[in-house]
Amino acid sequence: MKKDLRRVVIAGNWKMNKTRSESTELLKQLSDISANNDVIVVTCVPFTNLETALAVTKGTAIKVGAQNVHFEKNGAFTGEISADMLKELGVEYVVIGHSERRQYFGETDETVNLRTKAALDAGLIPLMCVGELLEEREACITEEVLARQIKLDMAGFTADQVKKTVIAYEPVWAIGTGKTATAEQAGEACGFIRSVIAKLHGNDVANAVTIQYGGSMNAKNATELLAQADVDGGLIGGASLIADDFKAIINAAVSG
Ligand code: PEP
Repeated sequence: MKKDLRRVVIAGNWKMNKTRSESTELLKQLSDISANNDVIVVTCVPFTNLETALAVTKGTAIKVGAQNVHFEKNGAFTGEISADMLKELGVEYVVIGHSERRQYFGETDETVNLRTKAALDAGLIPLMCVGELLEEREACITEEVLARQIKLDMAGFTADQVKKTVIAYEPVWAIGTGKTATAEQAGEACGFIRSVIAKLHGNDVANAVTIQYGGSMNAKNATELLAQADVDGGLIGGASLIADDFKAIINAAVSG
């Protein structure tokens, strides 16, 4: 299977931005994006804006995602949200293992694995993030880090679960820094991730998995990044908060 048969997913990660009224405004500005079966557009909004986002995007081409999910079904986990809670609302996607959660909230490969499995079990599509730190890239151990993350984060997954998971390759040094990986670096890393999956699950599974690039993707660099053979979309932070910029990235994917 070739790139053109994989799902291309353009997802905005709003992080801790936008009140409910601000969300409504931004989503209304995005609501005229044209539907396209080949390119899926997702906005991952704060928990407090999920219901609003689902209402405002109804009948549009925009799908709604959350930015985290707990791995237990329910119980004494104050402040947490379960996969069933998201699913019942109508949420379809969820970001898991973002580097900010790994860095500031103690997320580990083990909890990423548990959260991703919980999301899949509930019928959500995980946008599972992996990526190396700057010092790891400088020490030339990017591939070692990515291989370890893929093995641990997807440990125990069936082939079907691997295929349903969207992987976001996000070099940590490129997130929110304005430093983008070159198209070549992004393409190489996404290709390497695909090769790790091929070793674990075979070529058919590897060729079916959507692998996004994330890290300072914007209206100017999107076309080149998305043109890479193994880059099947983007996870976009800063530029997803500006309607015209996010639309330009979507257009780059649609016409790519
Ligand atoms: C992100 O939040 O996943 C991200 C890639 O952010 P930015 O586009 O701002 O670098």
